Amino acid sequence: MSAFKLNQIEDFTTAQYVELLRLAKLNYKFIDYRELAFEERGVLWRHDCDYSLNRSLRLAQLESQESVNSTYFLNPHCEFYNLLEKRQTEIVEKILLLGHDIGLHFDAAYYDIESEDQLDALVKREAGWLKNWFDVEPVAFSFHNPTQFLLSCERATYGGLINCYSRTLKTAIPYCSDSNGYWRFRRLREVLESAQDPCLQVLTHPGWWQETPLHPRERIFRSVYGRAHSVMNHYDHGLQTHERKNLAGPAGSLQFLKKISIVQYQLCDFLWNSGHLNELLLELYRLHIRQLKSFFRAAAVNYWHVRPSDVDEFLQQIELERCISQLTPAVCDVAWDVITSTSDIEYQRWSQICRTLFRQGHDVSSDIAEEGCLYFCKILASAAVWGGAEDAIFNEGISVIESVEMPLNTKTRRQTSPLLGSQKWRALKQKFATDP
Ligand SMILES: [Zn+2]
Repeated sequence: MSAFKLNQIEDFTTAQYVELLRLAKLNYKFIDYRELAFEERGVLWRHDCDYSLNRSLRLAQLESQESVNSTYFLNPHCEFYNLLEKRQTEIVEKILLLGHDIGLHFDAAYYDIESEDQLDALVKREAGWLKNWFDVEPVAFSFHNPTQFLLSCERATYGGLINCYSRTLKTAIPYCSDSNGYWRFRRLREVLESAQDPCLQVLTHPGWWQETPLHPRERIFRSVYGRAHSVMNHYDHGLQTHERKNLAGPAGSLQFLKKISIVQYQLCDFLWNSGHLNELLLELYRLHIRQLKSFFRAAAVNYWHVRPSDVDEFLQQIELERCISQLTPAVCDVAWDVITSTSDIEYQRWSQICRTLFRQGHDVSSDIAEEGCLYFCKILASAAVWGGAEDAIFNEGISVIESVEMPLNTKTRRQTSPLLGSQKWRALKQKFATDP
């Protein structure tokens, strides 16, 4: 069996999740930890919330749409979320409002537990926290990353909560889990389809269930970095709301990018703040080339009626950065230094540095790289402003080229007749074919 098949990554989507719920409903009755009835073809459906409360809410909503309830086990020591953070607390409240239960996901590694009495006292203490925070009684507890010692603690309850790993539950109820983002022992779909188990305990971790198939580490990456971006956003937004200065250092020059592409902004912001200046310089240079092509293509198509495929063919034959200072006056009727607020000499110097960096792979010093980053931020921002005010380029900014088509009434100022356009295009091609 290939590793891909073993992972069954296509199983872990929300669409598949709904199908699993429907399959489960066909053969089992959803029961909760208050009404453990092993003989009745019951299924205990539980979630250990290890990675994401946002994904927990998503699953809770899907379960509610399917008219079933489950139990969400929450870890007060979780590295991936903070239960006392306002937005996260609100998520738990929403899950409860949908009719689901909560349990304690107990992280024994936080303590140094040596006896069952200690375990009893600590589970009781943490159960009290959940009750105080959310004003409901947790119904059971499960171990986070259980050790041999913890698995040997097999009493029915500790600290007043049902133990999901009690001897009775472990022996009486067959179990199926998605631990680590794949089916380690049994595939849940097959378990539910065959329905051979008289009753079941199903454990899923909501972070594993995403909208599209992803490898397990990709799913964690999404949760972790999604949260990190949200925290940075919270910081920036807080300063803005209170009209305070946001002293971002040189990386503050990337602000213009935020309005154009949030993903590009996050990437560049990360590179700058983590000191990857050569990588950032290349990325900004790449964005700049993309912007140039986008502008040139938009202008040629909209002003001169050139076919997009002809423009692309032409762009493949020339080195755009070398010719751009002559191309912009010809096609856009405006000087290059007006668009970019820079001189051609300075521009050619930085283009040369980037081409060398790109082709020969020799890093430049961090001082030069940072100077280059500031330079490309300046011309990217300046050109984006110019493009935004230009009919043919419109809000092109540095977005993808495909959005070049626009309503006729915006193609006004510099537009020629198709005949004149094709004459101008032929002349331009001839000039650069012989004199690139
Ligand atoms: Zn866990």
